Order: sequence, then structure tokens, then C-alpha cells
Amino acid sequence: MTSIATLGSHCSLQVLKGAKDEDLKTILVCEKKRERLYRRFPFIDKLIIVDSFKEVIDQKCQSILEKNDAVLIPHGTLIAQMSSKEIESIKTPIFGNKWILRWESDRNMKEKLMREANLPVPKPVSNPKDIDKLVIVKRQGAAGGKGYFMAANEEDYNTKRNQLVSEGVISKDETLYIQEYAAGVLAYLQFFYSPLKEELEFFGVDQRHESDIEGLSRIPSEQQLKSDKVPSFNVIGNSPLVLRESLLDEVYNMGENFVDAAKKIVAPGMNGPFCIEGVYDENAKFTSFEFSARIVAGTNIYMDGSPYYSLLFDEPLSMGRRIAREVKTALESNQLDKITT
Ligand code: ATP
Repeated sequence: MTSIATLGSHCSLQVLKGAKDEDLKTILVCEKKRERLYRRFPFIDKLIIVDSFKEVIDQKCQSILEKNDAVLIPHGTLIAQMSSKEIESIKTPIFGNKWILRWESDRNMKEKLMREANLPVPKPVSNPKDIDKLVIVKRQGAAGGKGYFMAANEEDYNTKRNQLVSEGVISKDETLYIQEYAAGVLAYLQFFYSPLKEELEFFGVDQRHESDIEGLSRIPSEQQLKSDKVPSFNVIGNSPLVLRESLLDEVYNMGENFVDAAKKIVAPGMNGPFCIEGVYDENAKFTSFEFSARIVAGTNIYMDGSPYYSLLFDEPLSMGRRIAREVKTALESNQLDKITT
């Protein structure tokens, strides 16, 4: 019997609950330290206990997954903890397109795909010397905003970088990526593209709450100026957002452009869940600084269905359940190879 497997973190609970609701077997690759937590949830049929998630590529774990006809659902933890090469070497069928995950992890490839999709991206700054307006400095890969900082000029950049190096937050030789800061209302646009139906679905919007940048905005400017802490963008949680209806047409266009661009440059394209992340400015113009080519943790807020999915489906569907439904449909029509890589 086909099972749905994922790593125990990020959005694993909604993924496996959704799979169970679709009558599929569920498997969690679980770090020893989290075993007690995940044993609380009866919809998890099998736990593969590991010391570290890296073991998912080992022969032992792979053969258990193979024996259980598992489809692996990738999420942010897989990307954060494994190199693109390691992910690509996984033999278990991966839901969506494992080749596009490399485009998410590498900042330059990411920018290329976003430009191909015609997304309005913030200007990158290749040399700290060229910083002449507010920029955000990022690490490679999905670091969840940890160790990111803002800088107004080269001197500011050097001071903050050195401070973070001395605090051990970033390493000395780490290549950082600098990009103009886009101010506005944060919006993370969540989609699902079904290669079976050849249709794009808009699922929902969330906002990320990030520490300590949000903590800083809650104190008066007088105290802000006295603080010598470099505020980070470490994600703590997410909250829901609905958009002005007049923005929806453009949202669908952006999603469709992204799917078309991915089809062109990284076969088999952007299948399954993805997210376009950015801000709306005072003229409701969207600037996109990021995409995620897999399910995002922000979908956890809609475990019981989202406002936009309630317009498309007559039942509450989480993103986890939507994924499981796609797997089930593919199994019934013998098209599993169309939705996995
Ligand atoms: P993920 O965990 O989604 O892969 P990441 O580590 O790749 O994230 P980003 O999403 O690029 O990081 O950035 C983290 C946070 O920094 C964003 O949620 C946002 O608050 C802020 N941010 C990033 N880029 C910009 C920008 N150009 N302008 C304004 N804020 C930005």
C-alpha cells in the first residue's frame, strides 16, 4: 500500500493528517529527541527513528521507505538540512520536482527563475561598496531568516557582519547575498499546481512573524537607537491574511507565470505546492523577494481549509490533504510518475 512519508518538523503534522484523511498509510522520519512529541498523534502509522535527518539518504532508511511504497513530501527542513546533491540522490519518489529545489537553495539560480517568471524582484547588490540605500543581507539556502540583517551602507554592513561572525551566527567565509530592502505589507502567496488537471489553484496567504525585527518595532525609537543588537528575521510563527479582491487577478497571473517559467527551465516544472513571497507597497504594487518550490509552513494555519480553497472545493482541505489527494488520483489513474521525481 502506498504511504506518504515526511520528516518530523515544519508541516509534517498537517501533511500526515491529510494523508490519513485520504486513507493513505503515513510514515514519519523522526529524530529521537522528538519521538515523544510525535507519538501523541494517532494518525502517524509508523515512525522511523533517526539520530539526524541526514540518515534519510542512508540505505537503511531508503529501503524501509521503498518497502512501504513511500512518496516523500519535501519541506523546508529537508532543504535546510541537506545539500541539493543529497536531495537529488534520494531514491524514494519525491512529490513535486526535486530538481527545482536546487533553484530555491541557490540565490543566483533563484533570481534567474524569478526573472524568467517576470516577478518584480528587488535589485541585488553584488558588492558591499555599492550599498547606497537600505539593503537586507541574507545567507544562502532556507535559513528561515536567521542571521539576516539590514544595512544602510558599506560601513554599517561591515560592522554588523563582523558582529554576527564574532557571535558565531554566521561563519567568516560565508558568502552573503545582498538585496535592496522592499518596504510594505508582507504577503506570502500559497499555490498548488496540479499537473494532472493542468490547473493552478490559489490556496491562501500568510504573514510571517519574525524575531527580533518585530520585537524592535514594539519599542520606542529612543530605546531602538540605544540597542546595539543586530535584529534578525528568525521565523517564529505565521498568521493568516486575506487580500483585497481586486488583487486576486494579478496573484493568479504571477502564479501562472511562475509555473510557465519553471516548465521552461527546470523540467518537469513547478508541480505541487509552492509559494511566492514578497511585499505590497503603498500603491499595492507587489515586489517578490523569494519563492519556495514546495509546501511552506505558513499553510499550517489552514489545517481545516483556507478561505480561497472553500471557494474551489466543497469540503475543508488542508494543503497536506490536497497533496495526498493528488497522490491518490495519480495512483488511481496510474500516473504517479507525473507528480513525482
Ligand atoms: P525561507 O525560510 O522562506 O526559505 P529564507 O531564509 O530564504 O526564507 P527570505 O524569505 O528571503 O529568507 O527572507 C526572510 C525574511 O526577511 C522575509 O520573511 C522578510 O521579512 C525579510 N525580507 C527578505 N527579503 C526582503 C526584502 N528584499 N525586502 C524586505 N524584507 C525582506
